Amino acid sequence: MRLSRYFLPVLKENPADAQIVSHRLMLRAGMIKQASAGIYSWLPLGLKVLRNIERIVHEEQAKAGHIPVLMPTVQSADLWRESGRYDDYGEEMLRISDRHGHDMLYGPTNEEQITDIFRAHVHSYKDLPLTLYQIQWKFRDERRPRFGVMRGREFLMKDGYNFDIDYDSAMHAYNRHMVAYLRTYERMGLKAIPMRADSGPIGGEDTHEFLVLADTGESEVFYDSDILDLNFGDRVVDFDDVSACAEVVTEWTTPYARTDETHDEALYNDIPEARRKSSRGIEVGQIFYFGTKYSDSMGASVVDGEQNKVPVHMGSHGIGVSRLLGAIIEASHDDNGIIWPEGVTPFHCGIVNLRQGDEATDGACGALYEALTAAGLEPLYDDRNERAGAKFATMDLIGLPWRITVGPRGLKNGVVELTSRRTGESQELSIEAAVEAVVKVYENH
Ligand code: ATP
Ligand code: MG
Repeated sequence: MRLSRYFLPVLKENPADAQIVSHRLMLRAGMIKQASAGIYSWLPLGLKVLRNIERIVHEEQAKAGHIPVLMPTVQSADLWRESGRYDDYGEEMLRISDRHGHDMLYGPTNEEQITDIFRAHVHSYKDLPLTLYQIQWKFRDERRPRFGVMRGREFLMKDGYNFDIDYDSAMHAYNRHMVAYLRTYERMGLKAIPMRADSGPIGGEDTHEFLVLADTGESEVFYDSDILDLNFGDRVVDFDDVSACAEVVTEWTTPYARTDETHDEALYNDIPEARRKSSRGIEVGQIFYFGTKYSDSMGASVVDGEQNKVPVHMGSHGIGVSRLLGAIIEASHDDNGIIWPEGVTPFHCGIVNLRQGDEATDGACGALYEALTAAGLEPLYDDRNERAGAKFATMDLIGLPWRITVGPRGLKNGVVELTSRRTGESQELSIEAAVEAVVKVYENH
């Protein structure tokens, strides 16, 4: 993309209403525009990152054997009356009535709707296990929408639902989700720690939230610092292998890590003092086993091997797709702007032309652009008639991890400059070598 032809409405000034750095930077980098409280339009740069996050989520769900669907955002209240949640949900639910006077709602989540699909089509244990998921907009009329996309009213969520014949099979689904989520967050450059969370009135112990440590997080968390050393990396896990998945879960759930809701002082004090940590965290996901709550109330059962009708065991599993943009920026920025991890960056590499209109410089930038594109990468070429300082400031603000700077002086010696946004380190390289270096970086993304 040539910047002169793009739509990148960057702001020079810090927006007064943005309290935290990620919100400020998303507005300044022209990624989002507020439409009304907690509701945002996604501008081109923001949309690209959002799509990248979605892509990673889809790829990791596919590996786990989970199947995508897409359910409507507007739901009938009748379904929610069946589960009893229409009355229970409270003011966070946006309730609408259509022209015929039918009660409708904008979905805050989809357990009822997916259960309705399930009960219409699945009747035998032979069709289990089954996990369906979607990435879809949700609406929750939050009391205090704030921090930009972090606590929106309209927000994008990956929500997945497993259907299993019994507890053991449902726990395997739970473990599969934890394994898939660990890899998902790591690909986004995040350390998201699974922490035992409160399962609320449903009971049981089987829920974990994934938290990214950040001062601006809304949750208070307590953990053993040993958990920070765990890395999923690129290990290959067979998702059908029950004990392989369980082993990963054991590895990540053995060190103490809890939110304030389930925090246990006595257990915490058993950790050697130097490793006891408490801080703030951003909830970027949650996995949940809730048994037969919805299958009982909504009549979702299957016939088992002995011809008995049994209610299915279910769980639901969410990732805060739009919140993740904020979380990634909170975890990865400096005074000059965003620093995108390679896995989600909106463009792979920036090209800065220091002498727009100079034949050799324009030619070298064009050659770079073509070579990067031919290698399957997407560069953002700043071809505007702007001062070098302004071009660098824009690149730093929007946070592309790599920048190639091209000017007449370097070209005389046959070199361009390749700079890492994260370290600020630069190397002088030939055009070919610079392209090769960038291509190599993205080989594993
Ligand atoms: P919170 O405690 O932050 O209100 P939640 O526990 O009610 O979230 P879940 O139902 O677990 O949310 O939803 C799954 C994920 O969706 C959360 O882990 C979070 O990342 C994201 N999410 C929830 N509410 C919002 C919101 N208002 N804006 C943006 N993302 C959200
Ligand atoms: Mg949650």
